[in-house]
Amino acid sequence: MKKYLIVCLLLPGLVSLLSAQKALIHAGQIIDVENADVLTERSIRIDGDRIVAIINGHISPSDDEELIDLADHTLMPGFMDMHVHIEHESNPNRYLERFTMNDADVALKATTFCKKTLMAGFTFVRDLGGSGVNVSLQGAIDRGYIVGPRIMTTEKSIATTGGHADPSNGMKKSLQEDPGPKEGVVNSPEDARKAVRQRYKNGADMIKITATGGVLSVAKDGSGPQFTIEELRAIVETAEDYGMHTAAHAHGAEGMKRAVLAGISSIEHGTMMTEEVMDLMIERGTYYVPTISAGRFVAEKAKEPGFYPALVVPKALAIGPQIQETFSKAYARGVKIAFGTDTGVSYHGDNAKEFVYMVEGGMSPMEAIISATKSAADLARRSEDLGSITSGKYADIVAVRGNPLEDISLLLDVPFVMKGGVVYKNQ
Ligand SMILES: [Zn+2]
Repeated sequence: MKKYLIVCLLLPGLVSLLSAQKALIHAGQIIDVENADVLTERSIRIDGDRIVAIINGHISPSDDEELIDLADHTLMPGFMDMHVHIEHESNPNRYLERFTMNDADVALKATTFCKKTLMAGFTFVRDLGGSGVNVSLQGAIDRGYIVGPRIMTTEKSIATTGGHADPSNGMKKSLQEDPGPKEGVVNSPEDARKAVRQRYKNGADMIKITATGGVLSVAKDGSGPQFTIEELRAIVETAEDYGMHTAAHAHGAEGMKRAVLAGISSIEHGTMMTEEVMDLMIERGTYYVPTISAGRFVAEKAKEPGFYPALVVPKALAIGPQIQETFSKAYARGVKIAFGTDTGVSYHGDNAKEFVYMVEGGMSPMEAIISATKSAADLARRSEDLGSITSGKYADIVAVRGNPLEDISLLLDVPFVMKGGVVYKNQ
C-alpha cells in the first residue's frame, strides 16, 4: 500500500490504482471485435489497470486475485463515443446559461454527466467542444476526484466569424466584441494556425472545426461552407504537427468536401453528404461519425414550444430527420463509420440509443459494436491501449446478460462496467 501512496503523490493520475488490484473475470462470451467473432468460456486476468492474459476455460483465481463471475454475461470492450459535449445538456434555458453560470457551476453540474456516461458503459469519449471546463473535467477524472469516462477533448471548437462556434452569435452588438483566434474564431490561414496552437496550449488533445453552419447556433444557415480550403489546410497541418487529429462538424456537402480534401480525420453529422463526398472519404480513409441520436432528438424537441429559439426550429426540423438516412447510404457505400452521438444535444447517459438507431439504419449489431470499440479507437488513435479485450490493453470492459448480437437493445442498460480494472457498476 505504501508503494501505491508514493506513486499517487508523484502522479495523481494513477490514484485509481489504489482500488484496481488483481482480478480474474470468468467470461461467458466475449465479443472479439478484432475478428468480428464470439469467444466462449474465457478467463480474463487483470493486473492493475491492464488486461494481462486471456485464457481458455474458467480457471481458478490465484490467492491474490479477486474473482468476478460473469459466466452468464456477454463481455465487450468499453464503449467509445466519438462525439459528446460533456459540459452541457440541452434544456430550454441553454442559451441563457452562458450568461448565468460560472465555470464552477458548469463543472459541478457536468460531474453528473460524466458519471452517467460511464454508468451507461461508455469508458471513453471524444469531447467535441465546450468552454475549457472540459479540460478540467478530464483532469479531475484522471486524478480520481470524480467518476467518469476517459476524455479526449478539443477544448473549444474553431469557427469563422458568424460561424457555428462563434461564441458571440446572437448577442446584441454591444456585447459581441470581436472574438479572434484566441477565442477560436479565425479568418485567415494565419489565424487558423494560431487558433490550433492556442487550443493545444489550453490543453486540447485534438481539434474540432465547424466546417458548415449548425442546427443549434443562433444563425440563419445550417449548411453552407464556412472555411476556405487554405484555412482548413492550415488547421489540419498545424494540428498534425502538434500530434493532434481533427474532426469537422458539417451538414452541407461543399464544407465536407473541402474538409476531406484538407485531410480531416472525421466528418461529424454529415447530413447532406453526397455520393461524391462518400467516395472521396473512402479514397482518403476519412471516418464518418453519424450522430443519428442528435438528429432524432432535435427533430423531436423542435416540436415542443419554447424548447429552441425560433431561428433554430426550422433548421432542426429540416436537418434532424435526414441524418439516419445519410447514415444508411454511407454505410451501404462503404464509408468507414465510427460511433458518435452528439450527446449534450441529447441527454447524457442515453448514448447507447445510437446502437439501436444504427441497427435500424441497416448495420448489423456486430458492426455497430465494432464502430464503438475497434473503429473508434482507430479514429481516436488510441488502438494501442483501447478498443478491444486484448492482453496489454486497458481493462475497460462492459457486460450484459444475454446476447446483444441478437438483441441490440440490451446495450441500453448495461449491468457491468469496468474502467482501468476498477469495477464501477455490477448489478
Ligand atoms: Zn456536437
